[in-house]
Amino acid sequence: MAVLSVRRYGDPVLRQKARPVKTITDEIRALVADMVETMHHQVGIGLAAPQVGIPLRLLVMDDGRRGIRTLVNPAIVERQGTVKAEEGCLSLPGIFAEVARSEWVRVEALDIEGAPVGLEAKGLQARVIQHELDHLDGVLFIDHLPPMARDRIKRRIQKEGLPEHSPHAFAL
Ligand code: ZN
Repeated sequence: MAVLSVRRYGDPVLRQKARPVKTITDEIRALVADMVETMHHQVGIGLAAPQVGIPLRLLVMDDGRRGIRTLVNPAIVERQGTVKAEEGCLSLPGIFAEVARSEWVRVEALDIEGAPVGLEAKGLQARVIQHELDHLDGVLFIDHLPPMARDRIKRRIQKEGLPEHSPHAFAL
């Protein structure tokens, strides 16, 4: 296993629409193991493959007491409610903002064995899933902000750059 380098805002891979995973090969399993190690190393609770430079529809998340979850080709099939909360992103270290997300989601995906899984999530886990699924479509959390707030963040990044490290309990 290895810690992979996390791509940062400005890297074109973060803006690509990721391709579905066709077959779960040994290579994919190795990538997932590396992504889990990278997520823990970065003190994140979710990580999408494009964040480590691989444009595939694949994400890992730390589901607290239920452990690590791998979602292959995930899709949100149902959602309810809206809730605002602060979000951060491993690809945008040091940047945090309140983002409106669905309060509850139902997801369909494949697990790492290739078996179909259905998952219902609310609160933080629902937020993690929506944030990571956005990464698979080339969307970043700042894209959800009102234009003025987004421009302010973009100007700040242009001016100051992104910090090397920004420890935070909620980075995705
Ligand atoms: Zn992120």
